[in-house]
Amino acid sequence: MKKKSVIIIGAGIAGLSAGCYAQMNGFCTRIFEMHTRPGGLCTSWHRNGYNINGGVHVLVGCAKPSEFYQVWTELGALQGRRFESYEDYICFEGTDGRSVTLYSDIDKLEEHLLAVAPEDCALITEFINGVRRCLGFNPPILKAPELYGPIEGLRVLLKIIPHLGFFRKWFKVSMREFSTRFQSPLLRELFADIWFPETPVYFFMMSLSMLHQKTSGYPLGGSFEFSKSIERRYRDLGGQCRYESRVSKILVEKKRAVGIKLEDGTEHRADYVISAADGHTTIFKMLEGKFLNKKIRRLYEKYPVFPPLIYISLGLKQTFDLGLGNSTGVYFPVKEPLVIAGEKMTRMGIRIHNFDPSAAPPGKTLVKILIPSNMAYWEPFIRDRRRYQAEKEYILDRVVSMIDQRFPGLADMIEMRDMTTPLTYVRYTGNWQGSHQGWMITSKTGLYHLKNMLPHLKNFFMAGHWVFVGGGVPSAALSGRNVVQFLCKQHKIPFVTTVP
Ligand SMILES: Cc1cc2nc3c(=O)[nH]c(=O)nc-3n(C[C@H](O)[C@H](O)[C@H](O)COP(=O)(O)OP(=O)(O)OC[C@H]3O[C@@H](n4cnc5c(N)ncnc54)[C@H](O)[C@@H]3O)c2cc1C
Repeated sequence: MKKKSVIIIGAGIAGLSAGCYAQMNGFCTRIFEMHTRPGGLCTSWHRNGYNINGGVHVLVGCAKPSEFYQVWTELGALQGRRFESYEDYICFEGTDGRSVTLYSDIDKLEEHLLAVAPEDCALITEFINGVRRCLGFNPPILKAPELYGPIEGLRVLLKIIPHLGFFRKWFKVSMREFSTRFQSPLLRELFADIWFPETPVYFFMMSLSMLHQKTSGYPLGGSFEFSKSIERRYRDLGGQCRYESRVSKILVEKKRAVGIKLEDGTEHRADYVISAADGHTTIFKMLEGKFLNKKIRRLYEKYPVFPPLIYISLGLKQTFDLGLGNSTGVYFPVKEPLVIAGEKMTRMGIRIHNFDPSAAPPGKTLVKILIPSNMAYWEPFIRDRRRYQAEKEYILDRVVSMIDQRFPGLADMIEMRDMTTPLTYVRYTGNWQGSHQGWMITSKTGLYHLKNMLPHLKNFFMAGHWVFVGGGVPSAALSGRNVVQFLCKQHKIPFVTTVP
């Protein structure tokens, strides 16, 4: 029997994952990617001998017992790759001159928080108990929830039920709101500023529990090598990847996706189309907004997205560390508040991953700074390259001088400066509003369930962080896997996986 053909748009983690699983299940697939390389947002690039990891810094599921471990292993992403687990995740410095360290070890963290803020003993204990509670919880992810039969569904529900009350309680509380419960000014600052303030405390607890269990870690060698290993797996499974092939349109006949049209005018046909490219472009441009319902429209009008980033990398011509024990990062208040790209900054975070030998040439150091930004500020610069360059230089100068105040002498060590803006992310990945992770989860918006299919359009699926609230590489990989489970269901074949 002739194999069913599938066209996949985008060679980010979601597209590569969909490609791998479709190949494992007997489909004949081609990926069309607009960029010259795989990975999408999960990437790194070289500058003057430095390897800038512009993607994953914390990979969930790099070790057992996380169920994501199985997914990454099937995708060939872990084999032969080392991950560094964080000892002391970050040091947070308060405006009162005191500091607090987020240790990965929960017992050490508890002891430390109690020493820093004994007046908040009850709240700290409640919080740490929450982190401990997450330790034993491994949500079942290996089957798309829509595909559970009644008995299987019940079994999963029984597994989840003991965790449900706890989840509900801490999902409703945002980091900002939680911060106000502390008496200690330092812990108030910590919880308000360390993450996006509207994130539910639940996810902070989950993240700390993963750091403790060492089921999340930093991919040594950088994100591009990580993505490349999945692309290699895809090719080994017989998949084909075409680069520099921007899709402009999804071809639809009788409400059925039948192929794609590239920007160069060529058309390519297949039995199925999976878009693992940006959600907004897919729905409103490639499909011209013809396959929508109120829920999807409202989502794109109202739902918050993770902000785009300014990502600054500084190459230092000598070895350097933060002088803060095992902390790979520090978050410190700036002496004078500064406006960067229209946003007032009162703090700055820097990270140094000295444990990754690929990051900098021997004897040198790579420093990274991430600053949330906004697209509206950057849009006018699209038409004025010179102004854009000047703005980047201005921001770099200001940021360097702020860091130099905290680490005197650092400015003189700099031999390489690199900066990406929200426009860079749009140019290279097409992500809507330059978002670095798709839809944001907040305690107000709740956990929105998105479908991989669009109303009234057959033979078409979507994968990637635009169909998985909260985003990130694990969600992207999982959504590609889920989509192939739907494909298998439609063809009445069992979904199978292999491990290389
Ligand atoms: C600085 C940074 C740090 C991050 N840190 C983490 C982290 O620590 N942990 C974590 O889990 N996540 C992290 N993320 C988020 C994570 O990288 C993304 O959520 C994930 O990679 C999204 O994968 P995706 O495949 O859904 O989308 P994308 O990576 O956006 O892939 C989409 C692909 O489609 C292609 N494409 C778009 N339009 C077209 C078109 N018209 N034709 C053809 N191809 C097209 C794009 O070029 C791209 O390759 C980080 C992101 C950034 C930027």
